[in-house]
Amino acid sequence: MNAPPSCDPAPQGDALTGLGTRDTALARLAEWQTAGGSIHALLVGFRRFDAQNLAFGTAAGDAALVEVAQRLRHFAAAEIEGAWLAVRDGGSRFLLIANEPCSREAWQLAAGQLLAALARPIVTSAGTLRLSPRAALLRATDADDPASVLDRLGQTLETAMAQSGRRLAWADGEATRLGLSAAQLEADLIQALDRGEIEVVFQPQFACADNRLTGAEALARWNHPKLGKLGAGALFTIAERADHVAQLSGHIARLALQAAHKWPMDLRLSLNVTPADLAGADYDKQLAALIKQTRFAPWRLTLEVTEQVLLGDVTHAADVLGRLATQGIQIALDDFGAGFCNFRYLQLLPLHYLKLDRAMIDGVAGSARDLAVLRAIIAMARALELKVIAEGVESEAQRQLAAGEGCSHYQGFLRAQPMDAAAFREYALSN
Ligand code: C2E
Ligand code: CA
Ligand code: CA
Repeated sequence: MNAPPSCDPAPQGDALTGLGTRDTALARLAEWQTAGGSIHALLVGFRRFDAQNLAFGTAAGDAALVEVAQRLRHFAAAEIEGAWLAVRDGGSRFLLIANEPCSREAWQLAAGQLLAALARPIVTSAGTLRLSPRAALLRATDADDPASVLDRLGQTLETAMAQSGRRLAWADGEATRLGLSAAQLEADLIQALDRGEIEVVFQPQFACADNRLTGAEALARWNHPKLGKLGAGALFTIAERADHVAQLSGHIARLALQAAHKWPMDLRLSLNVTPADLAGADYDKQLAALIKQTRFAPWRLTLEVTEQVLLGDVTHAADVLGRLATQGIQIALDDFGAGFCNFRYLQLLPLHYLKLDRAMIDGVAGSARDLAVLRAIIAMARALELKVIAEGVESEAQRQLAAGEGCSHYQGFLRAQPMDAAAFREYALSN
């Protein structure tokens, strides 16, 4: 994980979404080609978007596009380690380009994952929209003319949109096939658990007040024998398809708790929880058993849940989290500000922390409106006695902003990348 920080350096070209425009993408492609390195592109469109506009009104359609832009940004920031750029290519089309080495299979897996995120329901004041995203993919060479790259993607997307069964299509004419079938990947995952291919890395977290190390967030990776390193997003997409989320989550929790047991006593461990985990009948019992087996003190554990948890059975999720909280476990609402924040959730869940999505901190420099929103959220968190964690802190200016505005903790590439268990233990002992 020594890649440079990812970024979305788009000027605010598109008034509706704040993303760049087609021209921004053309210029960026030319720049990257001059510098060299591998370029991947992905153009997303939605089948029958006009029908959504008709059914819900154009204001709801616009709100959906803003949400799509937000999900796209969030996806790129989490999944792409190199430089990237997201733009709105007119209407309801969005283009994502990335400048990082990555296999064809990994780019296709990432695209599948993005489409799954974009297909999730979008709640607007006029109703809930369900979009059917399609994507065209391409790997560009230095010899490709930027305009022809976008044209080829556009033509491929047109074809994909006309066909009902096909969600992804490669623009280079090669068949849309992964080197491995979906069924093979699912089978690989089951073996991966036993073969030790699933790794947990730890990203340090710090106190804003004095910059001291306070703990780490556990993040999963899959060292796939053929595809190379896959991120947690791809890993969980495959696990969900194969119905193995509970098994995978248990495996990751065990590895993380075992590692954290060897840390200095004052450090906390944060674990990510998926909606599928919480929907299960006895997640709290299984976790309690693991905590006992690994002899980790429950009050040193934080569980990070996202708002997605609340799209399912909220009462059940609140009950399970409530039972965990009574054991001393703390709960953080993750990626806050990434989607439509529904403040009602804050009253439903037993929360201790709000973890601001990195887009919240990222947008603030240069935007008085974004700063006002950040201040309002932090004031609300204070009123509810929640601590606020800033994530994705990449610059000293962002760290100062987070500290100055009242965040209690921060995490980000500025101070540390995720590192393997041995490296984190060493880091913890020397900090
Ligand atoms: P998340 O929970 O928001 O995790 C933070 C992500 O941001 C991590 O990506 C981390 O590497 C990245 N990150 C940290 N600092 C910075 C920064 O300064 N700049 C930028 N651009 N990125 C930063 P990662 O590890 O790829 O994880 C992506 C998402 O996958 C996570 O987002 C989380 O939702 C999910 N995830 C990761 N590990 C697990 C897991 O063990 N279980 C579950 N259920 N989900 C996981
Ligand atoms: Ca998290
Ligand atoms: Ca997050």
